[in-house]
Amino acid sequence: MRINVTRSSMPDFEEFCREIRPLWDSHWLTNNGEKLLDLQSRLEAYLDVSHVSPFTNGHLALEALLEALDLEGEVITTPFTFASTTHALVRKGLTPVFCDIRESDYTLDPALLEGLITEKTCAILPVHVYGCLCDADAIQAVADRHGLKVIYDAAHAFGVSRNGVSAARLGLASMFSFHATKVYHTIEGGAVATESAELTQKLALVRNFGITGPDDVVSVGGNAKMNEFQAAMGLCNLRHVDGEIAARRHVHERYMDRLDGVGGLRLPPVQPGVKGNYAYFPVVFAGGRAVRDAVCEALDREGVYARKYFYPLVTDFECYRGRDGFDTSRLPVARRVSDGVATLPLYPGLADAEVDLICRVVREAVRNA
Ligand SMILES: *Cc1c(COP(=O)(O)O)cnc(C)c1O
Repeated sequence: MRINVTRSSMPDFEEFCREIRPLWDSHWLTNNGEKLLDLQSRLEAYLDVSHVSPFTNGHLALEALLEALDLEGEVITTPFTFASTTHALVRKGLTPVFCDIRESDYTLDPALLEGLITEKTCAILPVHVYGCLCDADAIQAVADRHGLKVIYDAAHAFGVSRNGVSAARLGLASMFSFHATKVYHTIEGGAVATESAELTQKLALVRNFGITGPDDVVSVGGNAKMNEFQAAMGLCNLRHVDGEIAARRHVHERYMDRLDGVGGLRLPPVQPGVKGNYAYFPVVFAGGRAVRDAVCEALDREGVYARKYFYPLVTDFECYRGRDGFDTSRLPVARRVSDGVATLPLYPGLADAEVDLICRVVREAVRNA
């Protein structure tokens, strides 16, 4: 049997059936149903934030956030992320300006921000990549000096906190993804978390056609609502997410132990004071692309699928390559990390023996490369 890079968490079948049973009585399947409202308040409690606005997926949550904030012009962001972050900006008519990442934790380097700000800059969109938290204090300080909004792509950061402060409380707002492959999921799904009631009201309009009442449509909104089946899955998964994170931690620690001391291989960053969610296990090979690809091929021969996540950089995608502002000359760290990175399989229930097999293959492949 092949070992995939991830495997979606599933609640107990009976538990999910119990959760959706009332829908057969109510016939209420979407539009602020009982399950959605329940999930929303439980997520606000779990993420320790005043307002959570659920969406049908994380990407549309991010697009809605950009729209609700009425942003225009340039947004400084990272090239070391999933296509969604950049696509959301471009699809909303904004111009991404790429800032290099830090060697220490692969997040946007705040020291480079000031050099990228122009009179057209309106916001900063950093990513808590792999669940590593950005240097939010340094980023906010630059933003405050220049009157910029900070919004986070927190797709990887569900349940992550630093010194007791939830990732959901950083910046003006954060987008979370509840996609099936994420630590916590609603099959497809996502949300915006914020302390702002005003922003939350605007998001509700963007999410549901700008409708405010039976006879009133006040803005040109779209449709990006989460339905009751998604919310029911979310309610079930939320009951078990702490256990899932603990099970991920076990896998993470076994990898750390078994891969310790392998030359030319960098283990995932450890951030002081951060309570992580063990979403991914990124390793970076000092030997770059040749070694990384050799390791991935060796794993593939053993039936193990490791992802080159995030390779290539967003700026190198066919749809962006050669575009003005998408060159990578100012992004040496992102380029180097992207060339050397692979994420090893990590999910609750990945057996110790499987982790050991993966580590053995990685060790041998590095030695032979
Ligand atoms: C998953 C992901 C998204 C998009 O979320 P979806 O729920 O899949 O739409 C955005 N940004 C990052 C970094 C992601 O990993």
